[in-house]
Amino acid sequence: MNKELSYSRPQETAERLGDLAKDRHRFLDKKILLTGEPEILQTANGRDAFIFSLQLLVRICPNVSVALPEGQERLLTEAREVAVQVAFGKAVEFPGSVNPAEFDAILSVGTRIEPTLPWTTINSNGWLTRVSSGGVSLSGECSLANPVGALATAALGAGEVFKRLIALVRERGELLNGLTFSVLALAANSNDPGPALPKKIESDLLVAGGGAIGNGIIALLGRLPITGKIDIVDREEFGEENLGTCLLIGSAHITRPKATVLAEMLKAAGKNAQGFHGSFADYAASLEDKYPAVVLNGLDNIDARHEVQRILWPDLIVDGAIGDFGCQVSSHFWAKNVACLICLFRHPVRSADSVAAEASGLAEDRISHADEPVSNADVESAPEAKKDFLRGRVGKPICSVVSEAVAQKIAQDARARGFEPSVPFVAAFSACMVVAQAVSYLSGWPSALDTRFQFDFLRGPNRGEEYPQERRADCLCQRRKNIDRLRAAHGLGG
Ligand SMILES: [Zn+2]
Repeated sequence: MNKELSYSRPQETAERLGDLAKDRHRFLDKKILLTGEPEILQTANGRDAFIFSLQLLVRICPNVSVALPEGQERLLTEAREVAVQVAFGKAVEFPGSVNPAEFDAILSVGTRIEPTLPWTTINSNGWLTRVSSGGVSLSGECSLANPVGALATAALGAGEVFKRLIALVRERGELLNGLTFSVLALAANSNDPGPALPKKIESDLLVAGGGAIGNGIIALLGRLPITGKIDIVDREEFGEENLGTCLLIGSAHITRPKATVLAEMLKAAGKNAQGFHGSFADYAASLEDKYPAVVLNGLDNIDARHEVQRILWPDLIVDGAIGDFGCQVSSHFWAKNVACLICLFRHPVRSADSVAAEASGLAEDRISHADEPVSNADVESAPEAKKDFLRGRVGKPICSVVSEAVAQKIAQDARARGFEPSVPFVAAFSACMVVAQAVSYLSGWPSALDTRFQFDFLRGPNRGEEYPQERRADCLCQRRKNIDRLRAAHGLGG
């Protein structure tokens, strides 16, 4: 396994913090302990948070040890099976006894805290996540089972571990101390676990995108009482760089289509799932007259979001989005005056000439002189990094030099994609918020979300904010009559 590529995304994310993360160059050499308390581990939430934590931790560091108190043999057996499926850097260790003081970070599923050690305690109840890396211990009330709260709490816990491993400075993000946060209400410091999950969710769903957020969505849908059909669309295959960010996958899934792998996982969990390895347009063409009414997005680019919106126009799209540490959910209802995905996600306005100028090193006003030759003056005025490239092409027409430069840039960008920044816990938390909003809508609960909620993971969800946004006056979504006709033809609305 190519360690450089498989950990490239978490590594690049730490790298971008620069001096704010003192140990950004050596966090992969550190050691993590995952442990827990019997009273919490025996609850469904405790079990889920423990297994999800294991699935997340192996992606941010190859040195993970698991140790549990006596009497937890069944959970340990399960953890060993999961570890074999997901560990890729190095096997997870299961030592009989451990000295917690020998670890750089300890994550415990329980209630007790150990402020003298680099210790973080997590647990969950219903939609409520709890996390403490400081002196405040956690409530032990964990009886309302809900995998969404459990995954969100594992994500917060893995985030705390990551902060310790990279030695994040306090000014960039302090450790969380006794925080409770509802992933459904999107609000902190309440003890309300929210409503119980319905016995049955009978809707058909489409999951758009099988990457890091898509993995989190699938992990949750597999554990929720969804009885409808679940389609998954993605045109890519898993690559080694996905190991560092995608919750569910292991080495055996590399080179296989994302949609197929995730559909197999849902089928193994007893769901009626189908993977579609291709574009959204091809997927839509394969549908007869019934389009999905609810779409859960885990996409990593603007064009794909626009495509999903423009092709499908469903009743609701819930979109998960992440940046280096930015974590977001947004809800796009057709029946309400809220921004569609084309309104909300906009390309930065950039002319073809400015792209050509950046790629070639030529001044922007030279690009339009397509037939003129590259001159020595062009070389002199180019940025330092582009001078050699242009010097070798003096006398050649500008148009051919530009197309060569742009082609090179596209190839470089493709290579750089393996090293795009991303961390698994931010994506997993975004997935939890997406699934929470979808379950809320399908259960007929009032929505707590006004278009968009976003927070910086290093600062914590309690510092997040909502951003209401209406439709833009110049957007495609204003053509309501045309779109309603299209929706009717696709079996939507009415
Ligand atoms: Zn719009």
